[in-house]
Amino acid sequence: RKGTAIITGASSGLGLATAKALAETGRWHVIMGCRDFLKASRAAKAAGMPKDSYTIVHLDLASLDSVRQFVKNVRQLEMPVDVVVCNAAVYRPTAKEPSYTADGFEMSVGVNHLGHFLLARELLADLQSSDYPSKRLIIVGSITGNTNTLAGNVPPKANLGDLRGLAGGLNGVNSSVMIDGGEFDGAKAYKDSKVCNMLTMQEFHRRYHEETGVTFASLYPGCIATTGLFREHIPLFRLLFPPFQKYITKGYVSEEEAGKRLAQVVSDPSLTKSGVYWSWNKNSASFENQLSEEASDADKAKKLWEISEKLVGLA
Ligand code: NDP
Repeated sequence: RKGTAIITGASSGLGLATAKALAETGRWHVIMGCRDFLKASRAAKAAGMPKDSYTIVHLDLASLDSVRQFVKNVRQLEMPVDVVVCNAAVYRPTAKEPSYTADGFEMSVGVNHLGHFLLARELLADLQSSDYPSKRLIIVGSITGNTNTLAGNVPPKANLGDLRGLAGGLNGVNSSVMIDGGEFDGAKAYKDSKVCNMLTMQEFHRRYHEETGVTFASLYPGCIATTGLFREHIPLFRLLFPPFQKYITKGYVSEEEAGKRLAQVVSDPSLTKSGVYWSWNKNSASFENQLSEEASDADKAKKLWEISEKLVGLA
């Protein structure tokens, strides 16, 4: 039978390119978890995805109720859940003020980490009951959260500190809006959220890989300088960033190529190892990459897991 993969944020960029790459194989049905149904439907059509290769289900990660409703709606489809890809993200590098999710969490960490944390926890049971030979839960990471790299050392650097802001609910009322308890910084909040994504993947691996057989993985697909992720950046940045990445850092990767890479992590029979953070070299060959000290700190991962459970109402 065809495999079924859920991809969040499949209405643009990497998510859409991955959905298209999987759909084109004819071996996958994609459930696109998107906050804007019409945009997703137009994007899938414009990408030329065969009509019967995808189903769009509404998902707004900025609302825990919406996440729970999404899980219910997916179950009503009565399709197996074989692979889940947590891909959606917001990046607000020029924001002067924080914005908040429906549950009152700072937006970047609320969407990128907490929304996906609840989603992944809920869907683990569905993955477990699938009979697909290689079940996977993939969380898209990033080099920017990895302070052992050049890109990860561009200030402001990711740093979760002792997680005091997160423990307080990231609400700006009785806690800071930043995980480490500091002042709001949109670029740092994004990087922090990506560290959370990578820590979460490893904690899933430690807690559930043996018991469930599910492969837990993360990846850095390369710098996809053309996606909507940079939509809130200043115009000059948006103009210069793609050529800078192409010719100077040489980390540039097209949306299509990045989509193929993520599609490999979804379906390639050789990428079944769990607990891995995948990257690609200059020849587009995948390899197991090293995470920074913070992004591989097992104590922090455990603490992050326990605080996140409380915030999303699982504990
Ligand atoms: P895009 O902005 O193109 O895609 C992000 C997607 O997330 C969009 O589909 C967007 O929906 C969706 N999204 C945002 N907020 C929500 C929400 N509240 N609920 C549901 N969906 C939401 O960016 P990319 O494709 O570049 O980013 C995809 C992933 O790749 C992210 O995890 C990012 O961190 C990661 N990444 C990107 C890199 C890059 O260089 N671009 C490098 C490394 C990692 P909508 O279409 O409605 O806006």
